[in-house]
Amino acid sequence: MAKQQTFADKATKAAAQPGKKCPKCGAIRQPILYVASEPSKHGSVRFSHRRVQLCKCNEKEVFA
Ligand SMILES: [Zn+2]
Repeated sequence: MAKQQTFADKATKAAAQPGKKCPKCGAIRQPILYVASEPSKHGSVRFSHRRVQLCKCNEKEVFA
């Protein structure tokens, strides 16, 4: 059975990678963990975690 990667492993590896340069503004994008609450069909709230590459071009969209 293949070894499963844990979320912590992925987060550690992602954090170790240098930020990518944005082709639009030329700034180094900051990888952030964006947590969004989503109402589920059953009336409870789910939290989804997304990794977002943040720079000036999309920070307004991310934090809207
Ligand atoms: Zn940008």
